[in-house]
Amino acid sequence: MQKLARAIVDCYGRYGIQVRCQRVDSLTGGDAVHLLRHLGRALGRHVTLCIVDWQIALPHAGPVFGCATGRSALLSRAGLEEEALMKEALHEVGHLLALDHCPGECVMSLSISVEQVKAKPSFLCTRCSALLESADLD
Ligand SMILES: [Zn+2]
Ligand SMILES: [Zn+2]
Repeated sequence: MQKLARAIVDCYGRYGIQVRCQRVDSLTGGDAVHLLRHLGRALGRHVTLCIVDWQIALPHAGPVFGCATGRSALLSRAGLEEEALMKEALHEVGHLLALDHCPGECVMSLSISVEQVKAKPSFLCTRCSALLESADLD
């Protein structure tokens, strides 16, 4: 977990993002929408990326690695090796900072399969980076 937190700070620290690790023991089930709603209530105003060990799914999209809404993002480590998990964590944090999916060579490119996660870089492209630099994150 420390390694992941460091990767997030390496990628987003320059934009003023701080990382805090905390366990949430009250999450159960694989319904991503339900989990996100619960997280929003549990953690209030903090921007949160929650990593769970089990597979999660969206009602209309089926199984997903992660998803984000508002201030909360969810990531499943099921089926992802460390390197891939790190990329998807950076991807979900990008969504929390209002970045959308990116068609470029970019960690924000959409990944449906493990192969797609492996193929994409673990950094932001210059376009997404510029978007964050010009964004007002407060
Ligand atoms: Zn995404
Ligand atoms: Zn990009």
